[in-house]
Amino acid sequence: TFEVVFVGRSNVGKSTLLKSLTGRNVRTGKRPGVTLKPTHLYFDDFLITDMPGFGFMSGVTPEKSEDVKNTIVRYIEEHADRIYLAVQVIDGPAFVEIVERWDARDEIPIDLELHDFLEEMGIITVIAANKMDRVKEDEKDELLGEIAEIFGYEEGPWKESGALIAPVAARAGDIRPLVSHLKNEFHKMKRDDLFKHF
Ligand code: GDP
Repeated sequence: TFEVVFVGRSNVGKSTLLKSLTGRNVRTGKRPGVTLKPTHLYFDDFLITDMPGFGFMSGVTPEKSEDVKNTIVRYIEEHADRIYLAVQVIDGPAFVEIVERWDARDEIPIDLELHDFLEEMGIITVIAANKMDRVKEDEKDELLGEIAEIFGYEEGPWKESGALIAPVAARAGDIRPLVSHLKNEFHKMKRDDLFKHF
């Protein structure tokens, strides 16, 4: 099995992105943060795993949020041998502010914790910065540079930072940069058979 996992906090548009990418509905009608278990779908001979959304939401306690994080970490540890890629979905325009809020509390945002964890596990991670339709064209590069830096990549132009960042607008179906990254990584793994019709 060749597995790709999707992680992200609740409401970043992970379901919308998966729908746009695969044409299939995942996790429809379920309240965010309530479902603890990962869900799966087979697509083009690989397994896509949709991790539960994490983060604070109304009706979701901090303990529950920790539970979700631990579920994700445990799942990834258990299946590390078959997970080749992760797509970490973030809300592009909201991300910097979310991180600052955590910083103010002297806490590390779950997004960053998970990113470091995935790196430690040797899993290639593409950051899908979603909702970029909300960012003005001439402000996109600066925002993406900030995001790369927050994730610990080099300061400067985001395209040269070493981060695999895909600016997308999932609701409008504008996901080309993500598809390019995925195809590129599959190619490096000599799995050009995956995603061939894209
Ligand atoms: P999930 O909790 O991460 O699975 O998020 P959903 O896919 O349910 O989306 C959460 C909200 O974000 C919904 O209101 C979506 O319509 C909205 N959304 C998703 N993708 C985009 C996008 O590309 N741009 C904008 N502006 N909103 C989006």
